[in-house]
Amino acid sequence: MPEMPEVQGLVDFLHGRTTGLEIARVTVASFSALKTYDPPVHALQGAEIRGVTRRGKFLDMDAGTADAPLHLVFHLAKAGWLRWYDALPGTLIRPGKTPIALRLGFGDGSGFDLTEAGTKKSLAVYVVRDPDDVPGVARLGPDPLSPAFTLDAFAELLRGRRTQIKGVLRDQATIAGIGNAYSDEILHAARMSPYALAANLSDDEVAHLYRAMQDTLTDAVAEASGKPPADLKDAKRRGMRVHGRAGQVCPVCGDTVRSVFFADNSLEYCPTCQTGGKPLADRRLSRLLK
Ligand SMILES: [Zn+2]
Repeated sequence: MPEMPEVQGLVDFLHGRTTGLEIARVTVASFSALKTYDPPVHALQGAEIRGVTRRGKFLDMDAGTADAPLHLVFHLAKAGWLRWYDALPGTLIRPGKTPIALRLGFGDGSGFDLTEAGTKKSLAVYVVRDPDDVPGVARLGPDPLSPAFTLDAFAELLRGRRTQIKGVLRDQATIAGIGNAYSDEILHAARMSPYALAANLSDDEVAHLYRAMQDTLTDAVAEASGKPPADLKDAKRRGMRVHGRAGQVCPVCGDTVRSVFFADNSLEYCPTCQTGGKPLADRRLSRLLK
């Protein structure tokens, strides 16, 4: 799943490439991906892109005018991606027979497809007058790289929360943009157990976690920026120290990276760096063994 750094990379790319261009055509190939009907999707046709911004893991393409606000907002979810074309193919898209969910063509012949692999479709596209009309956008917590997101603001979010820190970091309503991968990386950088309760962290631990979050995300955004969409996924994978690397060597201490189930997914961590050398109990596995 693309998270904040990859989405920021896509946003920077699209902002540079599409600002000022007119939308020549829009083709919806997956009707389940389109979540709104008013304004209609064809309202985008003929509209000019004014700019592209990020809201958490959502991309927001502003295609409005002063009199008629209009935004194309989308979320790539778990298996969605954006494929850019300098010259958009003219082939016919057959709904239901393609991974393409939506195709957008610009007046200069360029364009992109939003694609989604797999059978569980969750890529979501919205055509709205205000990005906050998208429930997932309206619910978003603060952006961790915004100037307002200070150490004090972070400490305030954690105060009294008897929730495992791993869950807090990836809760979009608490902090926007961090998912399963970067929460693993942030916790590894902070040398903190994913199971630590947010409310129990000392002031020093909160400060340490805050710095780890800022550094990890700032580095990943820098790594993603300026890359074309096709290179962003590999760049993300290459930058990971523990996430998706179970069984491999921790680059910090040489221990073996381990994996446990967490919520709807698995998480990766290094026992030596994060949990005093002790492997975390894998609740799903221990339940199966009973
Ligand atoms: Zn380690």
